[in-house]
Amino acid sequence: MTTMIAMQLDAPGQPLRRVERPMPEPGPGQIRVRVRACGVCRTDLHVVDGDIHGTLPIVPGHEIVGTVDALGAGVAGLAVGTRVGVPWLGHACGHCPWCESGRENLCDDPLFTGFTRDGGYASHCLADVRFAFPLPGAFDDVHAAPLLCAGLIGYRAYRMAGDADVLGLYGFGAAAHILAQVAIWQGKRVLALTSPGDTAAQDFARGLGCAWAGGSDELPPEKLDAAILFAPVGALVPAALKAVKKGGRVVCAGIHMSDIPAFPYADLWEERQIVSVANLTRADGEEFLPLAAAAGVRTHVTALPLAEANAALDRLRKGEVEGALVLVP
Ligand SMILES: [Zn+2]
Ligand SMILES: [Zn+2]
Repeated sequence: MTTMIAMQLDAPGQPLRRVERPMPEPGPGQIRVRVRACGVCRTDLHVVDGDIHGTLPIVPGHEIVGTVDALGAGVAGLAVGTRVGVPWLGHACGHCPWCESGRENLCDDPLFTGFTRDGGYASHCLADVRFAFPLPGAFDDVHAAPLLCAGLIGYRAYRMAGDADVLGLYGFGAAAHILAQVAIWQGKRVLALTSPGDTAAQDFARGLGCAWAGGSDELPPEKLDAAILFAPVGALVPAALKAVKKGGRVVCAGIHMSDIPAFPYADLWEERQIVSVANLTRADGEEFLPLAAAAGVRTHVTALPLAEANAALDRLRKGEVEGALVLVP
């Protein structure tokens, strides 16, 4: 095979375009991955809609499950045919203060898959072998894909929420449906707050074991120890602050959010905190992926052909997705 297929973004606001390109050759330290499945993440929507700005043209997609198809120079200990996952953090420099202090998620000179390096809305992609994960056998390709970002960055947000016995999840999409399962397995009470009136998402949340589900315009029936905001809606920050206990934490898990409206200082008072989560470290993946298997997480996925990437993004934009969408080349 001398060519590959990709769905390419030429400019924000435009539909992705199917392109045929020469098959890329992996450079030193890289692998080429034959993509088996690639999840559709809200961040892809932010890239396509121009909410965040990376490299153009770009092939989106950073929840990649595939098999190693070719090895670049110096890649050892990984055989052609091995199944790997390729996440959002595609490369970190290894020598900036952030990398050296175990916070490669904040690296000064990173590459992000599907944002500043071509991603997995494609038949093939390249990856830095050091940033590819082995995947637990418990998940088939399509069901593993959402673990690579919704699961993994969701898990980083979950850890950031601290030792919360009562956890509120604002926005019950791909990330929340995974993290709710982990949290419930760990004995926590999970309350789901969806778009007002989205009874389908609320039923979905209750079906996964959430203790309560309602609209994000409501105060939940009990005070939260912590809240995680997966919905990119700034107005949820003051809403969640009102819902957390003294000392409670509100974790903003998305890469982009609409502006946060002004709110009274009294709502932050008593040591409530607002924090954000950026990207992931490899250590997050090494911790989360086995945990997801041990917890018996079942991702709810709808698989679509790669050629339907634009339709998939549109469904996500309209909030018409239960669980996660996954593209299959
Ligand atoms: Zn760095
Ligand atoms: Zn993502």
